[in-house]
Amino acid sequence: MTACNGRITSERDMEEKVPLLRRLPRVDDLMAQGRMAALAEAHRPLAREAAREAIEEARQRLLAGEDSAGASLEAVAARAMELYRRKSARSLRRAVNATGVALHTNLGRAPLSAAAQEALAEAAAGYCNVQAGLDSGERTPREIHVLGLLQRITGAEAALVVNNNAAATVLVLNTLASGREVILSRGEMVEIGGSFRIPEILKLAGCQLVEVGCTNRTHLADYEKAITPATALILAVHQSNYRIEGFASQPPVAELAKLARSKGVACVHDLGSGALLDYRRYGLPYEPNVPESLAAGVDAALFSGDKLLGGPQCGIILGKTDTLQAMRKNPFYRAFRVCKLTLSALEGTLRLFLDAERLPQEHRVTALLAMPVKEIQRRAEELARLVREGCSGWLDADTIEERSEIGGGSFAGHSLPTVCVRLRSERIAAAELSKRLRLSDPPVFARVHEQGVLMDPRTILPGEEPLILAALQGVGDSLQRGPS
Ligand SMILES: *Cc1c(COP(=O)(O)O)cnc(C)c1O
Repeated sequence: MTACNGRITSERDMEEKVPLLRRLPRVDDLMAQGRMAALAEAHRPLAREAAREAIEEARQRLLAGEDSAGASLEAVAARAMELYRRKSARSLRRAVNATGVALHTNLGRAPLSAAAQEALAEAAAGYCNVQAGLDSGERTPREIHVLGLLQRITGAEAALVVNNNAAATVLVLNTLASGREVILSRGEMVEIGGSFRIPEILKLAGCQLVEVGCTNRTHLADYEKAITPATALILAVHQSNYRIEGFASQPPVAELAKLARSKGVACVHDLGSGALLDYRRYGLPYEPNVPESLAAGVDAALFSGDKLLGGPQCGIILGKTDTLQAMRKNPFYRAFRVCKLTLSALEGTLRLFLDAERLPQEHRVTALLAMPVKEIQRRAEELARLVREGCSGWLDADTIEERSEIGGGSFAGHSLPTVCVRLRSERIAAAELSKRLRLSDPPVFARVHEQGVLMDPRTILPGEEPLILAALQGVGDSLQRGPS
């Protein structure tokens, strides 16, 4: 055998190592150690698995010729505890969103308001009356828990709730236009991301797409000319995540609805972001909203529950009773309907909209979006100060004027002014710092920008600053210990 770099290469080498290998702790030794002993009571299989892996790692290190200190009982037990912690941690965990993107799809879109969390906890705690009428004891539609609220807030007659707005689109189109033609402007052939493309959804729903107009301009007359006996409906889709500017126009939904009515076809509005009121009252840009769309006379309006509405993931369809009754009978509805947990969080969220005045205090998404820059600046300066004090010696923190993205296909083309904390270090590259923050507990998501890591207080929820500081100090400690 040939010798190379401390690996087992000769019989003499092996003879030296066998006594060391024999002294490796055994699983039962580890299970009797301090914290592991406590775990062994409650979580035996995972704890034993962690112990076996820690021993195997130590064995491999000894065979590779490493110092035997790493194979001591204490060292192997510490490693076993670390492995155990990783194995037993839940995968889906609360995370800190310091990216400034208010509706971040990868971070679960809307953070729920306290009222929604309470409603969810109650429904999750045991049985609930999701489909049982309390008066009659008979079966009721599960939307009954949100119908009254939606009627009051939007003026709708009837409501259906499904898994998301993509499902809502399929259900509406399949019910109202299967085997027939749907007229859509070339300016509204939207791709939302995650393989949701309006023309493909139309095909899936069994409809024939009839494109009208141009990318930048579509006129009412274009729709009118396209209507034939094969036409089932006119589809209007909100340009939720893009904007066509310059020489551009699109007839208002009210005109499309009027045209549809006069020709005896339906008009459906996919609003996407689900604004339940006019956000200009909170100093935000105009976004097409549900009450306006219904007042304009569309047969169905559909939108997401977890965008501006700030609730759980779901798709909401509002419209006339007869129209929605037909959708309820479609087998797709049975496949797409939501669970009690979704309905409870949705009800909790919708109740907040009864008092629009208090929305910026009580409703998380509205609070984030309407947060005054002065307030953000105060929080940024405070966080920067905490970081300078808590991480002195390796991390520098200052504040910088920036923009927050809204995200989630809402207020396309608009960003909001903000003030971020900028973190810079000579000891660690920005991308590496950002990665280690993600691997912290809880995970912290920030933005990497040029040489720094940016944290936007707009999306850092109240009380999360100490979690961020602890995550940064954890990174600082690991830098002290040297490269891992
Ligand atoms: C977001 C969006 C969708 C998709 O909604 P999901 O709830 O994510 O399925 C569809 N249409 C429009 C216009 C949207 O903005």
